[in-house]
Amino acid sequence: MPDLLPTVPDATGHFGPFGGMFVPETLMTPLQDLAVAYDEARKDPNFQAELDDLLHNYVGRPTPLYFAERWTENLGGAKIYLKREDLLHTGAHKINNALGQILLAKRIGKTRIIAETGAGQHGVATATVCARFGMECVVYMGAVDMERQALNVARMRLMGAKVVPVTAGQATLKEAVNEAMRDWVASVDDTHYILGSALGSHPFPMMVRDFHRVIGVEARQQILEKEGRLPDLLVACVGGGSNAMGLFHPFLNDSSVRMIGVEAGGDGIIPERHAARFQGGKLGVLQGTKTWLLANDDGQIELTHSVSAGLDYAAIGPEHAYLQSIGRVEYTYATDNEALAAFKALATTEGILPALESAHAMAYIEKIAPLLPKSDIIIANLSGRGDKDVEQASKYLL
Ligand SMILES: *Cc1c(COP(=O)(O)O)cnc(C)c1O
Repeated sequence: MPDLLPTVPDATGHFGPFGGMFVPETLMTPLQDLAVAYDEARKDPNFQAELDDLLHNYVGRPTPLYFAERWTENLGGAKIYLKREDLLHTGAHKINNALGQILLAKRIGKTRIIAETGAGQHGVATATVCARFGMECVVYMGAVDMERQALNVARMRLMGAKVVPVTAGQATLKEAVNEAMRDWVASVDDTHYILGSALGSHPFPMMVRDFHRVIGVEARQQILEKEGRLPDLLVACVGGGSNAMGLFHPFLNDSSVRMIGVEAGGDGIIPERHAARFQGGKLGVLQGTKTWLLANDDGQIELTHSVSAGLDYAAIGPEHAYLQSIGRVEYTYATDNEALAAFKALATTEGILPALESAHAMAYIEKIAPLLPKSDIIIANLSGRGDKDVEQASKYLL
């Protein structure tokens, strides 16, 4: 196994042939400056100490690594551990990144924050840290998503954020990202863009990954304490890919640890009815980065569908494209129905309502755990809690 950590991304943000900086010229210098500022920050013990303190006292880290005993017994195979990111402040892993980036923004003298959001989870995490640091916060959100996620819109506004509806195109996440980029081109002198997943131009995929590495660093230490050895398998859902990169990255050089990313299979692998980029996707460029994406033969981005808004995006993070290309991480998908069934299984056997995004990882566990010996150990990332999905799950399951 090659030593991956120091090698990717390179100085231009490439993970092998993937990644890079596909942005308007006005953003090139600011992004290069951001990469330099980030490199200084991560080596500064004071920066790390402030981040660690807030992760502990404000966000609630470390999160437990929980042995799902009844679920394990029910499935009758490998031992299942859940990394409980659902227990964090605001209910999902996204706050790890939002907090890291606002500390960086403060360090480089920015006073205004912008962000994009789809389901609203990243918008809520960003509004939260902006309130905590007294920074102006503008969140771009598709008008359609604002209607579907009215509760998250209210949460953001209650914390003082301005939520701007985007009505272009499909009026969902992709258009919200375009609008945030447009704002940033004009405002980059005083504004930092807190991007919400391991996506976009360099240095975002690297930076977002690094701020989520704490998930895997903790899980590694916790499983060694509990079991005295490394796990056999890691499983995480993959939207842009931040929670999966956070769990996987600290294990990449452990060749005995197998890793599986689970994409959204929607209604099945039919064009415009899923968001599984490795199933029928193409290599292309979208919103700053070169990666696998869902596009038609003319290169137009296709519509996507998933029951979970957080996995419903046409491109996957470039580091996942790289890890897939070298065969280090395998990727599969779960359909809407499989995710809903896994949501129910976890609710009724463990008393945990998972986010519908996380339920995609759980759906794969339902398939694989019974096939593995009881001596095997699986760690699955429970990236968020399902309170936000209760209405949707009720519609299908009750
Ligand atoms: C946003 C979200 C995801 C998907 O994003 P990644 O960057 O792929 O992690 C997964 N789970 C939850 C709970 C989310 O809110």
